[in-house]
Order: sequence, then C-alpha cells, then structure tokens
Amino acid sequence: MQHPCLTCGACCAHFRISFHWSEADPALGGTVPPELTEPLRRHERVMQGTSQESPRCVALDAEIGVRSRCSIHPLRPSVCRAVPASWEFGASSPQCDKARVAHGLAPLTPADWHGIEAPANDDDGHPDDNPNDGGHTPPALPPPIAA
Ligand code: SF4
Ligand code: SF4
Repeated sequence: MQHPCLTCGACCAHFRISFHWSEADPALGGTVPPELTEPLRRHERVMQGTSQESPRCVALDAEIGVRSRCSIHPLRPSVCRAVPASWEFGASSPQCDKARVAHGLAPLTPADWHGIEAPANDDDGHPDDNPNDGGHTPPALPPPIAA
C-alpha cells in the first residue's frame, strides 16, 4: 500500500504556505528556490500559487486525490515539513483533515496506515522523492537566481 500522501496532495492545494524569507535566501542557507516564491509580509515569503483564493502550490505535481508529489521535496519550506498526515504518528492532524475534506476526500483513519512501511531515510518521517525512499527522483532544478 502506498503512503497516503502520495495519492493526496490536498494540503499543498489548500493553505497559504508562508515562511521566513531567509528560507529562500541561498546566501543564508535557505533551500527553497526563490524563483518559486513571492513576497508576503515584511519578513515573510510565500510559495507562489498559495496566496490566492484557490491555493495551489507551484511546486505541486499532483492530481489531487489520485497522485501527488512535491517537485522540490528535499528543498521545501519548514512549514511543509511540520504538517503531519493524520494518524501517521498516532494522532489526528487538523490541517490534514481540513485539507482533505475541502477536496472531497475522507479524513485519514488509523486503518489507512495498515501495511505502510516505515519511511526509509527521511528527516521528517514522510516519504520523499529521494530514490532511497522508493519515491521518484525530482526534476533538475533551474540554477538559483543570483541575489
Ligand atoms: S498531509 Fe494529509 S492532506 Fe497533506 S498530502 Fe498527506 S494526507 Fe494529504
Ligand atoms: S513546497 Fe512542496 S510540500 Fe510545500 S506546499 Fe508546495 S508542493 Fe506542497
């Protein structure tokens, strides 16, 4: 059975994905490709596509509820790493439930995790696009924009 996030993607098409601007500044160790972000408030940037009425992150490669992957998964903002999938770690996740319901998907239950193998090597417990996790290799990213 696949990890439920790989057939979902709802949270990447429901919330505004904002974070401190330094996460998109390579000079400060930021990993998020700046060209995929835009300014929000004074100290924040936001993933393009998520600061609008019907959010959808520009980095999302998905058919919601069918297949989903983050095309910048190893480089994604910290806020994306912080949202757990419901019941993956023994508790429900209000953000996960809310996003799934908004896209017409049932909230996950503990039964959805039966037969799911533990993530192989990720730093946050989610499967990623790293081949070592059995996922897909992300596409090559364009070179970073000079500051
Ligand atoms: S965290 Fe929840 S809403 Fe987000 S992709 Fe995973 S299952 Fe879907
Ligand atoms: S950066 Fe990736 S994980 Fe974060 S909202 Fe966009 S597609 Fe989803």
